[in-house]
Amino acid sequence: MSSTLSNLFRGITIFLGILKISKNYNRKNKTFLFQLDLNFLFIRNKYEKVLIYIFYTKTTNLRGFIMEKDIELFMEKVKNKNQGEKEFHQAVQEVVESLMPFIKKNPKYQKHKVLDRIIEPERIIMFRVPWLDDRGEIQVNRGYRIEMNSAIGPYKGGLRFHPSVNLSILKFLAFEQVFKNSLTTLPMGGGKGGSDFDPKGKTDNEVMKFCQSFMTELFRHIGPDTDVPAGDIGVGGREIGFMYGQYKRLRNEFTGVLTGKGLNWGGSLIRPEATGYGATYFAQEMLKTKGESLKGKTCVVSGSGNVAQYTVEKINQLGGKVVTLSDSSGTIYDPKGIDEKKLVYVKELKNVQRGRIKEYADKFSCEYESGKTPWQFECNMAFPSATQNEISKEDAKTLVDNGCICVTEGANMPTTAEGVEIFIENKILFGPGKAANAGGVATSGLEMSQNSMRMSWSREEVDKKLQWIMSQIHQSCMKYGKEDNFVNYVRGANIAGFVKVADAMIDQGLV
Ligand code: NAP
Repeated sequence: MSSTLSNLFRGITIFLGILKISKNYNRKNKTFLFQLDLNFLFIRNKYEKVLIYIFYTKTTNLRGFIMEKDIELFMEKVKNKNQGEKEFHQAVQEVVESLMPFIKKNPKYQKHKVLDRIIEPERIIMFRVPWLDDRGEIQVNRGYRIEMNSAIGPYKGGLRFHPSVNLSILKFLAFEQVFKNSLTTLPMGGGKGGSDFDPKGKTDNEVMKFCQSFMTELFRHIGPDTDVPAGDIGVGGREIGFMYGQYKRLRNEFTGVLTGKGLNWGGSLIRPEATGYGATYFAQEMLKTKGESLKGKTCVVSGSGNVAQYTVEKINQLGGKVVTLSDSSGTIYDPKGIDEKKLVYVKELKNVQRGRIKEYADKFSCEYESGKTPWQFECNMAFPSATQNEISKEDAKTLVDNGCICVTEGANMPTTAEGVEIFIENKILFGPGKAANAGGVATSGLEMSQNSMRMSWSREEVDKKLQWIMSQIHQSCMKYGKEDNFVNYVRGANIAGFVKVADAMIDQGLV
């Protein structure tokens, strides 16, 4: 036996084997490719001659079934359980794609099923909102409040009044809010609410009647330590005022139950400016990583509401030039720039007259494109600040082709999933909404603190805190999103936002 074996091995002088397993993420297909390389070399000494055989050289691509399948299966469950809620699916998909590899590496989150729990709202409230219009006719709208997650603080998030409002849109916004609030460094859970009521074209009296009826149901679900709503699309200072008045009347208490309040009755300085200012500070942080600044940059901004107005204001202060604004009817293009004086006009037009952006073009004799968005115009930087899914794949391509180096989302999820892919593939600076527009809710958090302490901070103090928070958010994104010479802010924001909430959920047990 032993002589047979020694005869067998006598002929083989070298046997070399290389086994290599590598893992690559294919961004295009959103899959992990596991590549298996087997290289075996035999050098065989037989009949006194040296023969070399490459015995087996083959590269086998084993698609990353595990990761891809896990994401697919998870999304299938989400879609079955939340049928027809396409905006919610979109928001969850983006987050799960970032999180799944991280969760695989950190099995405690898997063990505690944090992903399954975090996508399920803790509570959804839906209610009838009846009110009488100025003609004495009965109107009926639907009200909502999504109390998504309270692991790190009371539910916090805006109210949106817009005819497009439905469960899917509010659930996507509430879900995003959880991660955003976590990023702010402040103790705030996530929520969102609103109604399909359209304040456009309504008189102040009608808006007041609606707000009072809306709050007559909502008041029993919210409170300064439970759930603290704020403004969003269609809900500005006027609406917050009417709702606060009704809450106070029903509860007989003066508390910080809403943020975005008037300065005379508990509001914070800089809160109206905070989302636009914050988004611009975030853009500035991103530019710094490339040794760039806003000085001399041509910027396109969409929308002409709260976020857009204060984005323009801060860009101007930091030396940039804004050439567009828009509303749901069209876009104005002013190549000379929307300077401070013109911005005063926009604020009056939109916040007081409640007019259309077309009137700007008439007043300042510039181009107006009906039904168009601003993405066709050449720019260095873009600030989508109107609504969800306003930048399509084609728009994203146009922006990149036109030399745009930085996109900062002032609005929530304004870029479609395909659009985000284009920005990331082209490695431009892309600040997703949950990081870039978190300055608004962060300053709401500062308003809550001031209300609790029954004191007010100065403009400079709040602005300084806002700048610090935006730079902290930027750092958190860098921590989890850095890849060689590129920062994937989407992944960074998702993971950084997740970790804090997930750890708190685990600490608090199965609730
Ligand atoms: P806003 O003051 O009501 O302004 C919204 C602007 O977007 C208006 O110019 C509006 O035009 C335009 N718009 C709305 N729906 C549109 C559509 N379907 N197509 C094109 N334009 C549309 O609201 P905002 O507070 O600035 O909010 C803008 C975005 O920022 C939203 O995504 C919101 O969730 C997000 N955000 C806001 C805050 C905040 O503090 N306010 C904080 C974080 C994120 P029309 O007048 O024609 O409707």
